[in-house]
Amino acid sequence: MDKVKVTINGREMAVNKEFTILEAAETNGVDIPTLCYEEGLSLQGCCRLCVVEVNGARKLMAACTTPIYEGMVVETETERVVSARRDVLRLLLANHDLRCLTCERNGDCRLQDYCYRYQVENTPYPGDRKAYPIDGTNPFFYRNYGKCIMCGKCVRICAEVNGAHVIDFMDRGFDVKVTSAYDDGLTETTCTFCGMCVQVCPVAALVEKSTVWAGRPWEMRKVKTTCPYCGVGCQLNLKVKDNRIVGVAKEKSGSNRGHLCVKGQFGWDYVHSPDRLTQPLIRRDGELKPATWPETLAYVARRLLGIKEQYGGAAIAGLSSAKCTNEENYLFQKLMRSVLFTNHVDHCARL
Ligand code: SF4
Ligand code: SF4
Ligand code: SF4
Repeated sequence: MDKVKVTINGREMAVNKEFTILEAAETNGVDIPTLCYEEGLSLQGCCRLCVVEVNGARKLMAACTTPIYEGMVVETETERVVSARRDVLRLLLANHDLRCLTCERNGDCRLQDYCYRYQVENTPYPGDRKAYPIDGTNPFFYRNYGKCIMCGKCVRICAEVNGAHVIDFMDRGFDVKVTSAYDDGLTETTCTFCGMCVQVCPVAALVEKSTVWAGRPWEMRKVKTTCPYCGVGCQLNLKVKDNRIVGVAKEKSGSNRGHLCVKGQFGWDYVHSPDRLTQPLIRRDGELKPATWPETLAYVARRLLGIKEQYGGAAIAGLSSAKCTNEENYLFQKLMRSVLFTNHVDHCARL
């Protein structure tokens, strides 16, 4: 990989020559604020929060879209840069439904974080504010465009990752708004409810319904797990409050790289269903009766080994599930082949 030398905040570093200033900074631990940048999506360079000073350039440059070159000298937190960032934030606040106290993203909001970092308490630009009704017409998430900061990440992820192209910008200037065709609710569109737009939204414009009034972000424990719905085995983080799942947050590791479909994103409510079995049952005298796990495992082992001894392993077949992880399925076939000596092992994904 060809490298070039750049200097960021007085520190010289050798970085991949294909990098932008933002990538060079991020890989070397220099934090540049961004609202519209998302790794893996096309570059928009529209929020202007990532502007930096580049030696020899007249204007401030957007770090997310400016490629680096040999000998480039960059400063990321000068007075001029900070002043420009403050102005960007003040302009955003001029048209924002700023009710942080009860906002579901309070404590987990990029706009709030950057206002704190740059000590922006309010806006000197009073004027008209957009007043959109909150759209709760779909079963999974609210769309509150009074809090939208027009970063466009939802539009890009819907088009570039999901390929659904459900939402886009409508109108111009002050009236611009993200919406679907004919400004319809999402149930009237080809939306697959993958929730990717919700996951990338940096503010509370898109919020999972299940998390509303369910707890503050800092009260929720994140539990990394594997989606149980299919063999892809997507990784995700469950948001857990008081031992109950209230939502799903993205987890960047794994084959899905943080993206989910509707099942992994919103289909977890069965976990708390009162209809679920909570303990093993063994049929005794024709009736299913509760049993302990040690008792049940010993019973199953005894019966399987008994059948193997009497009729041979070929008399036993095992059917596993796509809801198990690859590792569980591997162990299952290992148990069938190596312990019970049968090749009769299959999986419900082949039905
Ligand atoms: S989206 Fe962020 S800045 Fe806006 S009200 Fe909510 S917490 Fe505050
Ligand atoms: S839920 Fe998925 S398909 Fe629907 S608008 Fe959001 S990103 Fe697009
Ligand atoms: S809804 Fe969220 S992700 Fe979409 S443009 Fe507005 S702030 Fe950005």
